[in-house]
Amino acid sequence: MNNDNDRDIYGDAIQRLDRAFEYADIDEEAVERLKHPKQVLEVSIPVRMDDGSLRVFTGYRVRHDDTRGPTKGGIRYHPDVDLAEVKALAFWMTFKCAVVRLPYGGGKGGVIVNPKELSRMELERLTRGFIAQIADFIGPETDVPAPDVYTNAMIMGWMMDEYSKIHRRRTPAVITGKPIPLGGSLGRVDATGRGAYYCIKELEKKRGWKPEDIRVAVQGFGNAGQHVARLLHGDGYRMVGVSDSQGGIYTPEGFDIPSLIHVKEESRRLQAVYCEESVCSTVHADSITNEELLELDVDILIPAALENQITAANANRIQAPIIVEVANGPTTSDADQILNQQGKLVVPDILANAGGVTVSYFEWVQNKGGYYWTEDDVQKKLHEIMAREFNAVHDLMEQKNIDMRTAAYALALSRIGEAIASLGTARYFAGGQV
Ligand code: GLU
Repeated sequence: MNNDNDRDIYGDAIQRLDRAFEYADIDEEAVERLKHPKQVLEVSIPVRMDDGSLRVFTGYRVRHDDTRGPTKGGIRYHPDVDLAEVKALAFWMTFKCAVVRLPYGGGKGGVIVNPKELSRMELERLTRGFIAQIADFIGPETDVPAPDVYTNAMIMGWMMDEYSKIHRRRTPAVITGKPIPLGGSLGRVDATGRGAYYCIKELEKKRGWKPEDIRVAVQGFGNAGQHVARLLHGDGYRMVGVSDSQGGIYTPEGFDIPSLIHVKEESRRLQAVYCEESVCSTVHADSITNEELLELDVDILIPAALENQITAANANRIQAPIIVEVANGPTTSDADQILNQQGKLVVPDILANAGGVTVSYFEWVQNKGGYYWTEDDVQKKLHEIMAREFNAVHDLMEQKNIDMRTAAYALALSRIGEAIASLGTARYFAGGQV
């Protein structure tokens, strides 16, 4: 969230463009265009609360760039949402979609609210109220929302239902991440974690390590964090540190992730692991803070929570040689420099967490075609895309001797640049006769 001394998170995000520009095949005027979001919408959402009072919430939807297709990206519900953050998140979506070659641009939305403080009916009213305000801004061919932090499949279902009512036409392709019976895709729920897992499997092939020798820490035990932890644990990786918003736990032997997921589902708190006989008796765990988790002596660190976690203030203390960014924007651009100097490999968010939007794309395709795939089809296609693009970014990194984030941005920029140049830039128009 944008709490780092009013740091302009959007300004920080666009710095990555300048760094990647020299390695990308793109016209300078296209880069200038990408620094400015295409459309920004702020709405107020009056909601009748259960006690009869009225509360007015603020929401945003930003469309960053639609050169490569409709804008795509989630909606988050969080008390710290602000416009700069939503703009940065939309910007990252543009690049994420280009890195995995989806025919989309980037968008994002957010509502300033702590959903944990609302009743289920208040949450439904807020959700339908937000869609009523943005119903002319979104659409299957213009801007397609999805889940993000603290939003889930049921909320996507309400959104699709409200949009369909307003437009008097059943429109499943307007939102992805829906419940399966309402047109959701099999394999969407674990897609973000699974995409990151496929990136780690490619690294495993390149480095030839044995999973049992690799110690992993995961910050954030929401949807993405839980699934990447579950899949790695299933392959024998040692999941030694895990945290959620309340704090973390650590054990050098490694946790049994399915039990932790069970505890979290039952109690909604990871540290409740202490009082759960089944887990406490099998494993001794130390309580750690979220900050301590980031600095653990591990082989792979997976930030899977919020942005601005690895900053200039703590980057020096990160011990893990490999960081796989499952959250959006967990590393600030000044921390990038420090990590690069220390020779860390950072698999950047726009690649590592692109599995979610990739399966969202599959869902949209299935909705438009009215023909639904098996989970196996979804996973195979996701694997193919993640492995191919991971290797494309890795190759460019080695070829140009740059960090992996710059390589991912350069690759994305070249693809966006190609699309922009297809409509003509100064290079074409000032070039004379056709
Ligand atoms: N919110 C997810 C992300 O940041 C998914 C977006 C989508 O599926 O459109 O990538």
